[in-house]
Amino acid sequence: MPPPAAAPQKTATILLAEDTPTNVVTLMDYLDYLGYRLLFAEDGLAAVKIAAAQQPDLILMDIQMPRKNGLEAIAEIRQIPALQHVPIVALTALAMPGDEVRCLRVGADAYLTKPVHLKTLGATIARLLTTPPYPDAPSDDRMLE
Ligand code: MN
Repeated sequence: MPPPAAAPQKTATILLAEDTPTNVVTLMDYLDYLGYRLLFAEDGLAAVKIAAAQQPDLILMDIQMPRKNGLEAIAEIRQIPALQHVPIVALTALAMPGDEVRCLRVGADAYLTKPVHLKTLGATIARLLTTPPYPDAPSDDRMLE
């Protein structure tokens, strides 16, 4: 089956940081189907290293990972100037009260609870890749004449 013709940002590169092999297979397969280029990290430590080296356009970050958890990895990635504004989607199995707030506080842009609906994930990625926040744009109150 060909990917949807309207798939946005087909050449965008996504870093998937996820330690559960079955999730990796499912997510890689789906993201590939949507036409994204993929990078992969099997734990939080690798996620930070690969993000810094490759500067992906978006990061999918599992929170429960060995060596360095997703919250720590997100916080470190946000310390890297080039990655301060890269969209990060946190994925977590722990639907604990306050979990979403913790993810967003360390710098995630969106938060999805597993099991993740692939359609919802795809829509979230598309939204984040096509909604530029322009966070560094200076406020500009000039008038057009
Ligand atoms: Mn995990």
